[in-house]
Amino acid sequence: MQISANKVVMLKYKLSNHSTGEQIEETNETNPLVFLYGVGSLIPEFEENLANKTTGDAFDFHIIAANAYGDHDPQHMAMIPTNIFHDEEGKFDEQMFHVGALVPMSDNEGNQLRGKIVEVDEENVKMDFNHPLAGTDLHFSGEVLEVREATEDEIAHGHAHGPNGHQH
Ligand SMILES: [Zn+2]
Repeated sequence: MQISANKVVMLKYKLSNHSTGEQIEETNETNPLVFLYGVGSLIPEFEENLANKTTGDAFDFHIIAANAYGDHDPQHMAMIPTNIFHDEEGKFDEQMFHVGALVPMSDNEGNQLRGKIVEVDEENVKMDFNHPLAGTDLHFSGEVLEVREATEDEIAHGHAHGPNGHQH
């Protein structure tokens, strides 16, 4: 059975940084990716590269950042006064707020977002609110483990059910 709309696909892959070769993520037979194909749940170009493949087929392709999680946008960086991070005693906790730390924040509208600290000086903490993979060209390689017909429920819900899919 070939991968096309309304099929549930199970696959394993290695995701690495296409430019540096550094591994970012790996799934395997015991923890595969399972998804309903063609409903836009994954990066569109990722799905396009899998079209018509079948069980046992290997894949190896890359997706440039702009077509994956987007380019790194300097507008999504912010300088935040250190006093925002002060504890009740007016102290800045350097242990907690170090470069590289991920800190839960909320914007003016109360939306939760996670920022990564990229710089700390006397007055400001520079934070990056881009997606962690923004600006990264992604390289995927792996193998299709299973392709099956989606059930009516899965099509109605817009996602795969069963092991490694939605459990409900
Ligand atoms: Zn469901």
